[in-house]
Amino acid sequence: MSFAEKLYLPAITQGMTITLKHFFKKSATIKYPEQKRELAKIYRGQHVLKRDEIGAERCTACGLCAVACPAEAITMDAAERKKGEERLYREEKYAATYEINMLRCIFCGLCEEACPKEAIFLTDRIVPVDTDRKRMVYGKDKLVEPIDDRVDVSQRQSLEMELFKQNKFHYHNQTADDKLINKKNENH
Ligand code: SF4
Ligand code: SF4
Repeated sequence: MSFAEKLYLPAITQGMTITLKHFFKKSATIKYPEQKRELAKIYRGQHVLKRDEIGAERCTACGLCAVACPAEAITMDAAERKKGEERLYREEKYAATYEINMLRCIFCGLCEEACPKEAIFLTDRIVPVDTDRKRMVYGKDKLVEPIDDRVDVSQRQSLEMELFKQNKFHYHNQTADDKLINKKNENH
């Protein structure tokens, strides 16, 4: 080992060269929240429980979203709509409580795909961090869209999105052998 190597000079020079190279590279991070990245059209962020045209909640507490949820993040209690509540709830049954545990959710979007009432959608809203686990369980107060501040989900209902979902659905329903064959075909 030479005297320079004993002093780690080549290793230090190599290390400093790498550091300097990165110093002039474009940063991979941004200063969130002041700066925001452009999100993909299919971005899956915080859920919204939609209302219909007159403002009635669309969810009928059928539970299909909870069954579809691989993270078991959704819970709800169903209730019967009473006379005079027609403007509050679209159908005879509604979700008296509806909760999503955001710490469990993996934002897969399967709840949205499972919903037959177009009641639940994922949005481009980012779930803020919190230091309290209980506050990360979102109830109807955070999930149902405000009546005077509707959440636009038209992008998620576009044809482009439908095709994307169908392809994904098709992919999920393939057997392992199908996937292997398709992959081989793609590579040829
Ligand atoms: S996005 Fe996926 S993990 Fe999250 S609540 Fe819906 S189904 Fe469950
Ligand atoms: S959000 Fe949709 S799938 Fe889930 S309980 Fe309500 S109506 Fe059923």
